[in-house]
Amino acid sequence: MDHLRRPHFGKSHSHDKKDKDGRRESSLGRPVARSIKLDMVVESPPVLFLDSPQHSSGSLFSGRMQLAVTSALPTTIKSFTLAFRATTSTKRPVGDHCKDCSSKSNDIKEWKFLADNAELATGNHDFPFSYLIPGHLPTTSHGHIGSIDYKLFARAETANGEVVEYVRPVVINRAIRPGNDKNSVRIFPPTNLTLNVTLPSVIHPIGDFPVYARMSGITTKKEDTQIRWRLRKLTWRIEEQEKFVSPACPKHMAKVGGEGRGIMHEHTRDIGSDDLKSGWKTDFADGQLEGEFMASIDSGLKPQCDVDSPSGLKINHVMVLELVIAEEWAPNKKPNQATPTGAARVLRTQFNINVTERSGMGIAWEDEQPPLYEDIPASPPGYRNEIDNYDGSELNEDVDQLRLS
Ligand SMILES: [Zn+2]
Repeated sequence: MDHLRRPHFGKSHSHDKKDKDGRRESSLGRPVARSIKLDMVVESPPVLFLDSPQHSSGSLFSGRMQLAVTSALPTTIKSFTLAFRATTSTKRPVGDHCKDCSSKSNDIKEWKFLADNAELATGNHDFPFSYLIPGHLPTTSHGHIGSIDYKLFARAETANGEVVEYVRPVVINRAIRPGNDKNSVRIFPPTNLTLNVTLPSVIHPIGDFPVYARMSGITTKKEDTQIRWRLRKLTWRIEEQEKFVSPACPKHMAKVGGEGRGIMHEHTRDIGSDDLKSGWKTDFADGQLEGEFMASIDSGLKPQCDVDSPSGLKINHVMVLELVIAEEWAPNKKPNQATPTGAARVLRTQFNINVTERSGMGIAWEDEQPPLYEDIPASPPGYRNEIDNYDGSELNEDVDQLRLS
């Protein structure tokens, strides 16, 4: 029996256990005399919400809180509580170095295991608990400005004033299950160019994904000659966009103009990119080009999944495409004898992408629920597609080489 019990009783929790009473006594140089110990056994799989905050049915967390009376005599417990606590914190507090501006916690769920000076015998006492963590909660996130963390926080106090605390972080992930690929169309007036892009409905922080692109309208034919655009370079970039509204504590509320207000901070970074100079097929007779390439997020950059929290943190992602196209001229009778005109343009556009964890990490609580159907999404918002003159030296060199050959 002892070998079964030892992992629960003998384990060190120097990182997440704070024994206030013990620490105080140590600092006074007296021996630590504790009569109770806390520990936790988690019985449920890692917390994974399936589907969007609007449609997720949450994730069941279950475990046992363990209170061990280590003294030889029974101990009187004044109170023994457990809380599921959400903490939103920021590196950009309204009041400089103000703890209350930097971090805000609230207890979403509380358990009162013992109260009213309950007497506990020497030995271990189990307190089972379970909680269906609501699926609308924002997931654990660690942005550059704001963070969301969850923990289970237990506190026991004996009748003679000994306080023991136990903290267990709970990581909440979300997996949006993949649906049909998303097709998007972008036009670039005044040109005739139309760009069709197909992206997966969800993208994961680890692993690559295919991007299919087709551009039509690249050839404009006149009576004897044709003008056409040749794709010289394609650059893709995945941007992580973070917004955080820093709230103010009561002391610093005047700084933001009153209660319920805050200061908006924004941070954008690239979490994946590449330049492609080949890999597509060009058909000038048909007036279109197409190709597929693999893109990925650099998992070493600690990418965050999409999150939109009422507590002020929002992280979303876009894929930015830049296509450098060069104009060339050719006689219709000899379309292969093309001459670059020297004109070049950059087409720039972007697509919302949904970065989410893979499903199947834990037991799917939802799979026992009736299926949920999402509404057909409304048309995506209009994007500003840009066309710029291209004056990159890189391409000009290429053009020169073409002329020489
Ligand atoms: Zn403050």
